[in-house]
Amino acid sequence: MNVLFVAAEVAPLIKTGGLADVAGALPASLRALGHDVRVVMPYYRQLRDRGIATEGPIAASFLPLGERDEELRIWRAVDAVTPTYLLDIPAAFERASIYGDGDDDRRFILFSRGVLALMQQLREVAGWQPDVVHAHDWHAALVSNYIRTTHAYTFGHVATVFTIHNLAYQGQFSTATLGASGLSERGLIENGMGPGTAGTFNFMARGIVHSDVVTTVSPTYAQEIMTSEYGERLDGLLLSKRDRVTGILNGIDSAAFDPATDVNLPEGFSAGAISGKQTCKRELQAEMGLAPSDTRPLLGLVSRLVEQKGLDLLDAAIPWLMLQTDAQLVVLGSGQPFLQDALLRHARAHPGRIAVRLGFDAGLAQRIYAGSDAFLMPSRFEPCGLGQMIALRYGSVPIVRATGGLNDTVREGWDGNGFVFHQYEARHFIEAIERALLAYRESASWAILRERGMREDNSWVRAAQQYTGVYDWARGLRTAG
Ligand code: ADP
Repeated sequence: MNVLFVAAEVAPLIKTGGLADVAGALPASLRALGHDVRVVMPYYRQLRDRGIATEGPIAASFLPLGERDEELRIWRAVDAVTPTYLLDIPAAFERASIYGDGDDDRRFILFSRGVLALMQQLREVAGWQPDVVHAHDWHAALVSNYIRTTHAYTFGHVATVFTIHNLAYQGQFSTATLGASGLSERGLIENGMGPGTAGTFNFMARGIVHSDVVTTVSPTYAQEIMTSEYGERLDGLLLSKRDRVTGILNGIDSAAFDPATDVNLPEGFSAGAISGKQTCKRELQAEMGLAPSDTRPLLGLVSRLVEQKGLDLLDAAIPWLMLQTDAQLVVLGSGQPFLQDALLRHARAHPGRIAVRLGFDAGLAQRIYAGSDAFLMPSRFEPCGLGQMIALRYGSVPIVRATGGLNDTVREGWDGNGFVFHQYEARHFIEAIERALLAYRESASWAILRERGMREDNSWVRAAQQYTGVYDWARGLRTAG
């Protein structure tokens, strides 16, 4: 099958979040299954500044944006594992930032139009065209919209799959964006969009409406986004398409996240040879200024510090944790100032027991996964979540709220791999930690629990097979009209 992947971030070229990991890893796994997958992404100035090797331009043209025309040149990234096209659109990507300058609507309209121009180019010059276009998140959502409307005569036969990585980021703009897009308002209101989106131009809603199949990054999140609690005002629209919505859990890069070979760790370890984990714990305590102890349970948290991640529950649990238990806590993250400040206050009040490091530090993150006994993810919502899967691999037993991908990867019980609570309330989180700390005291059973998690397979191979099924499904729907 020929598949064109469309994403605003692709690791390792450019990454601000989990989308980049998926767009980097999944195409390679699909290619290993024999599909001809190619990737298209923006040619950000950062890529040029870093001097990544490119070939081209292989084509040049102009893209309409309202009354204007903007320049497009198409390049190929030379060293990418997956064939990767870079859309060089100076009006959109010749700047320091990746997102957030206030004209993201115009930038990603241009990007989507550039994808159509690439498709035309590939068909005419290289004789290649996709059977499936797989667009990711709101930045790429309009590609499906153009394929189904303005470009229906050229590409109407191409199946479209749209993946929602986080429904909280929809790309919602005023109706002024409509003119720049060259699209029509038709087909949206009629599709059951909820209140709050009326009178706006919503990239993600358009991707949902115009794609053959909509996927999200876990089965549970796929169900949740069709409810008003998690639906971010698009639940009505999603519900109206429910027989075309599905969820596929992300994988993790099992070569990159391997405690046996991870160069960030003071000593490697694996499920069959665990002793290095004790060294990692000692070194982590030393690195973070915690009191040295082999026997105290060490809890870890690595996260963006935003409300989504359930940090108010942690804030409420800390006094109990300090008074009623002997646990230590290490936190790495950055984000909203009021959440950072609250954590720093706890650390100052409990030196030796709580350590907080603000900032983004990939190496320290790995040392926390490796050195901690348990890993906290009390998320309010979690489309998939990578943290708990990395924690499992590194023998840090996850304590999570049963939402989204957390619900699909962590189970509590006699054959479980972690600890789970359901209601978003501090006392339920506390009870889950309490159960974990009790289990920790039984070192033989804790070892079994930990080892079970370490041996679990959350690799990309399974996900790639499931996406192949979705592509077949979308093509079937397209053929059936
Ligand atoms: P999200 O994509 O919502 O941030 P995920 O759990 O899917 O949450 O992915 C987060 C990833 O980013 C994990 O691999 C986590 O280890 C990493 N991460 C988050 N914050 C930091 C940080 N401050 N420093 C290093 N890595 C971080």
